[in-house]
Amino acid sequence: MTKFEELGLNQDILKGIKDLGYEEPFPIQEAVIPVLLTGRDVVGQAHTGSGKTAAFALAMLQEIQPKNGIQGLIMAPTRELAMQITEEIKKFGKYTKIRVVTVYGGQGMGIQLDALDRGVEIVVATPGRLIDHLKRGSIELRDITHIVLDEADTMLDMGFIDDIQFILDLAPEDRVMSLYSATMPTEILRLSEEYLNNPKQFLLDADDLSGDGIDQSYLVIKDRDKFKYLVDFIKPIKGQVIVFCSTKYRTRDVARFLHQEKFNAVAIEGDMSQHRREQTMGKFRTGKADILVATDVASRGIDVPRVELVINYDIPNQELLYFHRIGRTARAGAKGKAITFVSYSSVGDWNLIKRQIKVPLEDLNEKMGIQISIPDPLKRQIPSRRYGGQSRSNYSRGGRSRGYGRSDRDSRDDRGGGRRRFNDRGDKNSYGGRSKW
Ligand code: AMP
Repeated sequence: MTKFEELGLNQDILKGIKDLGYEEPFPIQEAVIPVLLTGRDVVGQAHTGSGKTAAFALAMLQEIQPKNGIQGLIMAPTRELAMQITEEIKKFGKYTKIRVVTVYGGQGMGIQLDALDRGVEIVVATPGRLIDHLKRGSIELRDITHIVLDEADTMLDMGFIDDIQFILDLAPEDRVMSLYSATMPTEILRLSEEYLNNPKQFLLDADDLSGDGIDQSYLVIKDRDKFKYLVDFIKPIKGQVIVFCSTKYRTRDVARFLHQEKFNAVAIEGDMSQHRREQTMGKFRTGKADILVATDVASRGIDVPRVELVINYDIPNQELLYFHRIGRTARAGAKGKAITFVSYSSVGDWNLIKRQIKVPLEDLNEKMGIQISIPDPLKRQIPSRRYGGQSRSNYSRGGRSRGYGRSDRDSRDDRGGGRRRFNDRGDKNSYGGRSKW
């Protein structure tokens, strides 16, 4: 096993790592750091929980010089992720003189301008606000030597691809760049072909897509029974719980119900002000709240330690989101549990997700003896022994692409209902139009 000392990092950085109690590099760090330090570009298929933040941040800290202008640029899809990356870099760089600032929509320009005026070497930004700064000249990219695109597929989903291109076109060509994405859709592959120079590719956490190490189960129930079961499952849990809902309305409803039942729950969804989202995440992170009720906005990129149970109150509207959501548990080697509630009308969608799960998945209807009384036309979607048959052929998908869109289930997600609905400022995207790809 390689040690951090063998990766080519300087003493100041090693001291920061030691303070954090990291004993050995995670595989992604062992693989990526030496490559970035030789100046080669990297494309990593990896998502949160793999340790990718340290992988790119440590290499960046090693190469950047204090007081030499903005040399490092990290782009991330959401303000929460951007802030989290900044916090990590500050910890890793505690003994270096490297300064870092977060630039994101929703916060007044003044704070960011003041920080930029004082001088920084690394900028962590959401694309929309970064463009605002570039346009007013408060950030310049001429000294950039290191660029990271984190959660590239989420940025694509959120409609940031044109913004990213705009930004990359302004950056010097001679730079080291890495791109991380949980999935590699064509647009991301094209982006990396166009902007990265002969990148070394890593498939870093293929295992994560199996949800390995997570005790996974599901329960097919009537939508109106979900709350009762939610309470039953949450009651015995001693650690923290995240409940994922498909829409902000359901998020609010579930949080309200939980309050009524005297649970210590907080909610986070895309319509909340930046300040409230920060407050809420803070409460959950510091353990002041036991339960976080969230839409998928919160499911990506946010590092929430100590989560014992993830409940999918509604199934996600993309197969991969399922793995992102359940990835909130069993983090950094710990064991975790994920339970998915499947309403009758979502059985077809659930079957598509289920086929991607390569580890044993417990059928709670069987285990708990809960009968499914599905109306006739929907029965054929259930591939279980109870009803026989396979789902796919009977599942009316109306020509939508694989894994995207939805059937007849509960309305929209914060980011669903078409791309470009929200940008990092939480408002309608001002750059309009679809990606040119
Ligand atoms: P990330 O995928 O970057 O969000 O990291 C996932 C979690 O793993 C974070 O809580 C990190 O602090 C933690 N972590 C990252 N690298 C290491 C390491 N080498 N040893 C222990 N924990 C780590």
